[in-house]
Amino acid sequence: MTDEFDNITDLTEEEEEKYEKFCFLCHRPESQTGKMIDLPNNIHICPDCMQKSFDTMNQHMSNGKINYSDLFNMPNVGMIDLSSLQNPAAQPKKVKKKKHEEKKPALDLRSIPAPHKIKASLDEYVIGQEHAKKVMSVAVYNHYKRVATDTMDDIDIEKSNMLMIGPTGSGKTYLVKTLARLLDVPLAIADATSLTEAGYIGDDIESVVSKLLAAADNDVEKAEHGIIFIDEIDKIAKKKNTNQRDVSGEAVQQGMLKLLEGSEIEVPVGANSKNAMVPLTTVNTRNILFICGGAFPDLENIIKERLNKQASIGFYADLKDKYDNDPHILEKVTVDDIRAFGMIPEFIGRLPIIFTLEGLSEDMLVKILKEPRNAILKQYQKLLELDEVKLEFEEEALHAIAAKAMEKKTGARALRAIIEEFMLDIMYEIPKDDSIGQVIITREYIEGTGGPKILLRGQEVPRIGAAQ
Ligand code: ADP
Repeated sequence: MTDEFDNITDLTEEEEEKYEKFCFLCHRPESQTGKMIDLPNNIHICPDCMQKSFDTMNQHMSNGKINYSDLFNMPNVGMIDLSSLQNPAAQPKKVKKKKHEEKKPALDLRSIPAPHKIKASLDEYVIGQEHAKKVMSVAVYNHYKRVATDTMDDIDIEKSNMLMIGPTGSGKTYLVKTLARLLDVPLAIADATSLTEAGYIGDDIESVVSKLLAAADNDVEKAEHGIIFIDEIDKIAKKKNTNQRDVSGEAVQQGMLKLLEGSEIEVPVGANSKNAMVPLTTVNTRNILFICGGAFPDLENIIKERLNKQASIGFYADLKDKYDNDPHILEKVTVDDIRAFGMIPEFIGRLPIIFTLEGLSEDMLVKILKEPRNAILKQYQKLLELDEVKLEFEEEALHAIAAKAMEKKTGARALRAIIEEFMLDIMYEIPKDDSIGQVIITREYIEGTGGPKILLRGQEVPRIGAAQ
């Protein structure tokens, strides 16, 4: 008897494939809403409607009253017929999947570009950092080759998780973002400072996986091929001289171990904290690439101390101060130095690829202004082009901007703020006057001792060297 009933309502697995799930509340198909949350009786709810229901409930519970009419105030939703929940057949079930929506495998082995191609693509966006780009290209290539061939469990090759060390504004986040975009994989960026051991105030460690799931539109399979970037990792170094429980330092490192290595993590769908109302799903972190980054401010002194100690022993004793003014000291970092900084050995062991980024020089900053594909200058030039005005920067003006940025000691991050300040007046004044054909930003304008050169239409000079 029950078997017969099942036959009527349930579709075989093969038939299921052909049909698309349909949101019970807003009636949109899964192809539009992202992954559905499955409830009993073949009912599916899209993440948007689920979130809206929680939001509404939370709002009303905090007001101390529940207004049911608000609960149904969602797109395309009138009233929910609760009796239909009991009777699955009454649900307007599913629509046929459209042909073109058949999915290709997320990562096709043949389509993973070779390391030199990955690096060449990075070169278009990221200036300098040659070593970092090379190391990352090889690591990412190896990682995704193993994901595609499903050989991640082979014990003889370590997972390619990375630790990047470099000063603020040297392009750590930017490198990872560019990489994820080029590879078309979801990326979650988390800040290690906000992480604490589960149960304490702050985000628990598994929340980074929820972020990735959200970045992958709640598609677990896509998330499992994604990248998690944890910034400011140096802030979870072991706290020295403390008697209290170190909930945001060593404990976080401990907590991250299983994540880095690969394990099944239960994460809430469509929300960033676990609670009784939110459905959970399991994400396996085995194929997720973890990249940790940090400035490690005192690391240079630790390296110097070690090198000077070595140098003071025996034959090389006379070279004692050799390393004090070495600008490339960071490149000499070893695992022992990172351990001395306060990272626990098990943690470092799970980040086998360690590399450094260099601090940006004035010349590099000038290049960052004009060379990348989405360079700030190109963006302004495009904007003014819409008003048919040519924008040029004298090379000297670019150096003046870079010099100002260097003073701020926040790497390339200062550039945009400085340029925006100077461009505000230009962007305000130029569209007022139709006769202007070209604006040339001069060093004097940047330094506050003069103005930009303004040329009328018909008087434009050919492009000067800078910012082509
Ligand atoms: P951090 O190393 O602190 O993570 P970011 O990656 O956030 O620094 O850099 C800030 C901004 O500076 C980026 O958004 C990017 O526009 C620019 N930038 C930094 N380094 C480079 C670089 N090497 N090449 C091009 N742009 C860069």
